[in-house]
Amino acid sequence: MNGNSGPPTALILFGPPGSGKGTQAKLLKDSLGFPHISTGDMLRAKIASDDPLGWRVKGLMQAGKLVPDEVVNQLVTQRVQDPDCEHGFILDGYPRTIAQARVMQPWLRGLGYDQVVIHLKVDYISIITRLTARRVCPSCGTIYSVTSSPPKVADHCDYDGSRLLVREDDRESVVRARLESYDRQTKPLLDYFAASGFPFHEVEATSARPQEVLSMIRGFVER
Ligand code: AMP
Repeated sequence: MNGNSGPPTALILFGPPGSGKGTQAKLLKDSLGFPHISTGDMLRAKIASDDPLGWRVKGLMQAGKLVPDEVVNQLVTQRVQDPDCEHGFILDGYPRTIAQARVMQPWLRGLGYDQVVIHLKVDYISIITRLTARRVCPSCGTIYSVTSSPPKVADHCDYDGSRLLVREDDRESVVRARLESYDRQTKPLLDYFAASGFPFHEVEATSARPQEVLSMIRGFVER
């Protein structure tokens, strides 16, 4: 796969919260040149800008619940029509229900996109440890871990010095609720993807370093 030859590619990063989808999407964006589309980031931006949509979804997100399918379907269908998605893009955290996939996959197929699904497999105990250690830069979005990849100066971003934040939904009780939503509403998509016949690859990501996971993903998408 490359940015300019052959059909455009929708690279779908799939996996539980905390499996590294956001980290991999940022690395893949740099190496493939495709835009990173994160529905979670788009929704957090709506909340931060005091948009009416943000008021609607804030409570659900803080409780670790999924927002309605039509909200995210609309955000993604609008975003994918931007010119920077012409050669391909990376979806992080979408689709997350069978209803979302049933809207998105035929639509993307109709637009001529190849779709590749990467499932990042991580055990749940590691996820709880990872997410409660996660810190995020509110300005540039860089992700740190106080245990495995801390910033150079405690609590401050290496790139712009902003004070790092803990996401509201990274508190342990909310992480557990998010894992429950994943089990109930998102995991069933694995069977859907398998049955839909799209290229589907699994990466064992519990103990692999981000660069190792990246090269496994690149190996799959460049076949
Ligand atoms: P994330 O940053 O991907 O972990 O998403 C954070 C939160 O945003 C989730 O816990 C959901 O409340 C909401 N969200 C993000 N993407 C979706 C989606 N595709 N469907 C429903 N809710 C979503």
